[in-house]
Amino acid sequence: MPACRSAIAATIACLLAGCATVPAPAPVGRGPVEVQVLALNDFHGNLEVPPSTTAFSQDGQVVRQALGGAARLAATLDALRQGQAATVTVAAGDLIGASPFASANFLDEPSVMALGLAGLDVASVGNHEFDRGTAELRRIQDGGCEQHTLRTPCALEPFDGAAFTYLAGNVVDTGGQSLFPGATLRQVGPVKVGFIGLTLTGTATLVSPAMTRGYRFTDEADAANRLARDLKAQGADTVVLLIHEGGRVDPTQNLTGCPSLSGPIVPIVERLDPAISLVVSGHTHMSYICRVDAAGGTPRLLSSAGRYGGFVTDIRLTWDPVARRVADITAVNVPVNGTLGTRADVAQLVDRYVAAAGPLAARVVGTVSPAPTASSEENCAETPAANLVADAQLAAARAALGDGIDVAFINTSGVRTNLDSAADGQLTYGEIFAMQPFGNTLQVLELTGLELRQALEEQFCNEGPATPCSTLLAPSSTLTYSYDRSRPQGDRITAIRLDGVPINPEERYQVVFNNFLANGGDGFASLVQRPTVGEAGVDLDALEAWLARGATIPACGRLRDQTPA
Ligand SMILES: [Zn+2]
Repeated sequence: MPACRSAIAATIACLLAGCATVPAPAPVGRGPVEVQVLALNDFHGNLEVPPSTTAFSQDGQVVRQALGGAARLAATLDALRQGQAATVTVAAGDLIGASPFASANFLDEPSVMALGLAGLDVASVGNHEFDRGTAELRRIQDGGCEQHTLRTPCALEPFDGAAFTYLAGNVVDTGGQSLFPGATLRQVGPVKVGFIGLTLTGTATLVSPAMTRGYRFTDEADAANRLARDLKAQGADTVVLLIHEGGRVDPTQNLTGCPSLSGPIVPIVERLDPAISLVVSGHTHMSYICRVDAAGGTPRLLSSAGRYGGFVTDIRLTWDPVARRVADITAVNVPVNGTLGTRADVAQLVDRYVAAAGPLAARVVGTVSPAPTASSEENCAETPAANLVADAQLAAARAALGDGIDVAFINTSGVRTNLDSAADGQLTYGEIFAMQPFGNTLQVLELTGLELRQALEEQFCNEGPATPCSTLLAPSSTLTYSYDRSRPQGDRITAIRLDGVPINPEERYQVVFNNFLANGGDGFASLVQRPTVGEAGVDLDALEAWLARGATIPACGRLRDQTPA
C-alpha cells in the first residue's frame, strides 16, 4: 500500500506544518478502509508543560523542545483527528501517579478530567494507577468523593470519574475476577476493534503491597491471548493490546523507527496471538515505532509515546473488508510542541487547579534551624537534606510501630532537592513535595547485622576505587558507617555503629526503607529477600509531621568515606 502510506505521511506532514486542510479519508466501501488509533502513555498528571525539555530524533537530527501540557495535548489530538472518519484514542497506563503537585494534590482528578476532555476512550492501568490503592482507583474510574487517602477528594468541584474506560485484564482477585474489565469491543468506523488492557506483572513489586492487597498480576501474554480469543469469538475484526510494559531503544525518543529494541516487551510480543495487530506500550518512558509482524507475516506494530504527554502516536490501520484482515499498519510519533494549538477548555481546567494549588504549595509546614555545630563538610558523602528525610522516616516508623525501630535509610538520589529553600528558616508544602515527589511508602524490614552490611555493600560498583552504583544510603541519626572504596568487592564497609555501638552480625535489626528500595530499586537486590515487619505510611507525610514539631537540619558525617586519596 505505498500510495496509502504516502497519503498518511502527507496528512501528518501537513498537520505538523499547521495546514488548514487535510486529505479526505478513504471512502467506505469495498476498498481498503483506514482506522486511526491515537495513543499515549505515562502522562503522570502533567497538566502543565514540564519544565525540562525533551531531546528526540527527527530525520536523523536531534531536536530539543519543550513538549507536553494537557491543553496542547488535547489540541494535538483534535488536529490529528481532523478528516478521520474512524478514529479512537487509547492509552497504556501510568496516566496518574508520580504527578506534579497541581495534579497530585487533587488526587489527579484534574488530569483524569483533562484526558476525558481530550477525548481519551480506552486505557490500560499501569503500576502508578495503584499508588493510592484499588479502592481509590475504582473512584477514579467511577467518580464520587469518598475519601480513601489522606487527601481530600473533590476539593474544587464534584468528580464524575474518568470519561474513558480503564481495562485491567491481568489484575485478578482470589476469585479470578479482574479489577476492571480486561477487554472491550468498539465499533471504529466499519471495523470492530477489540481492546485489551494489561499492566506489567511486576506491578506488585513496584507498589506498596497494601495498595494492591487482594489482587495478583498475572502473566501478560497469557492474559492477552485469552482475551484475544474471547474478543474474536465476540466478532472482533482485529485486536489492539494496551499494555503498561515496554521496550528500550537507543536513542530513547524517536518519532519513527525502533533503534536496538530490547526489554521485557520483546518476549511478550513474540508470544501474542496473531489477531493482535497493534501493541501500544509504555512504562519505559521511551518513544518508538516498531514493526513486529506476527507469524505468517500478519502486520503488527509496537508503539510507545515517551512520557508526560510529550508525544502522541498516530497509528493507521488499513483494513481490507474483502479479505477481512489488517492489510497494513503504520504510525508516527507526533511531538506535542504547541504547533497544533492549545485547547481553551483544557487550559481553563489546568489554570483552575494550578491556581488552587498555589496557596497550598505556599503553606508553611514547619521551621528548620541550621545544624547546631559547624558541620563536618570536609567529609560529607551524604547530604543534609537526605539526613533530614531519614530522621523524619525513623520518627514516623517509631510513631506507627513503636520505639523498637532502629534506623531508617533513604537513597540520596530519591531526595530531589537540597535545603536551599530552608534558608528563610521554614519549609513550605510545595518545597517538601519537590523533595519527596514520588509518594513512596515506608516499609520496615528485619535484617541481621550481616544482612545490613550486605545491603550497604550493594551501594558500590566497579573496582579501584569503587563508585556508588546509583545512589548512597543516608541513615537516620541513630547510625553511622564508614567505607573504603579501594577495598575488594564485598569488603568495603569498614564499620557500622548503631547508637555508637558496632552492630552485631547475628542480631536482628528493624530498618526503615522506602518501598522502592525494599523492592530492590537502585540495585539493592538483597532487600527483596528480607521480611517486612510493618508499614509506616507515605514519605511526604513523615517529612511534614517531622517538620511540624520543628527540626534541626542535620550535619553531615553519618557516612565516612575512608578511601585513601
Ligand atoms: Zn510504569
